[in-house]
Amino acid sequence: MTNTKTPPAIVEKVRGWVESAKRVVVLTGAGISTDSGIPDFRGPNGVWTRDPKAEKLSDIRYYTADPEIRKLSWQSRLNHPAWTAQPNAGHLALVQLERRGNLRALVTQNIDGLHLKAGNSRDKVFEVHGNLHKAICLSCGWKGPMQDVLDRVRAGEQDPPCATCGGILKSDTISFGQSLIPEVIEGAMRAAQETDLLFAIGSSLQVFPIAHAVPIAQAAGARIVIMNAESTQFDDIADVKLSGLIGEDLPRICGRFDAA
Ligand code: NAD
Repeated sequence: MTNTKTPPAIVEKVRGWVESAKRVVVLTGAGISTDSGIPDFRGPNGVWTRDPKAEKLSDIRYYTADPEIRKLSWQSRLNHPAWTAQPNAGHLALVQLERRGNLRALVTQNIDGLHLKAGNSRDKVFEVHGNLHKAICLSCGWKGPMQDVLDRVRAGEQDPPCATCGGILKSDTISFGQSLIPEVIEGAMRAAQETDLLFAIGSSLQVFPIAHAVPIAQAAGARIVIMNAESTQFDDIADVKLSGLIGEDLPRICGRFDAA
């Protein structure tokens, strides 16, 4: 990963922007959770970088059409690092940011639930791609705890059907090819329009429509800070691009969060 150490003067400048902003919006991606042991998709050690075939597991068309893909998906969920992952310094810095009182929204593409586990408020967090900790039936819409379904996989069901209607079960996350939840994505985009300071953190900004939040906020007059080790297509419209490690730079910007 080609990250560079962020000079103290840049950190101070961005800290000043946080202090003077009225409505901060933060957009996070998989890169904020790599320090918690959850690999991203497209980074140098990303799941798809290491195994391009893994992309099929995140596509609803393969998932619904192919029982073998579903069996692989259940095995992958069984062993997912999210079950034991703990929030890291980056997540905790965003709790500190919320405590400052000017966080308008924390929009996340992540499905690991770590922002809520860290302590950000339910009403601030927009999980635009859903949450891995719940399961859903694609036919009848039943929802329940993921661990209950994983218990069935552990007991030998390779592709457990819905206990209510026999339909296909899946994590309650948005795969490629699946529709977003309108009220969640609309709430996130509204926040992007209203913010005066937008952070895009740990995202390659290649997944749309959520990546549009960056140019939308910029067009509405917000300052843009992009924190990502690699380049993104929106680096040229950012007021500041930080390529340092998120777990180091975010606590420097937001102030360290001292757990009680
Ligand atoms: P991505 O994999 O496309 O990009 C992640 C970016 O983060 C990369 O450019 C990488 O260089 C950077 N990065 C990784 N660790 C970093 C660090 N410590 N410091 C600085 N930069 C770092 O991720 P994305 O843009 O979020 O899009 C992928 C999709 O995958 C999303 O829709 C998300 O739902 C899903 N996803 C989620 C998780 C999770 O919930 N933790 C994990 C993998 C993928």
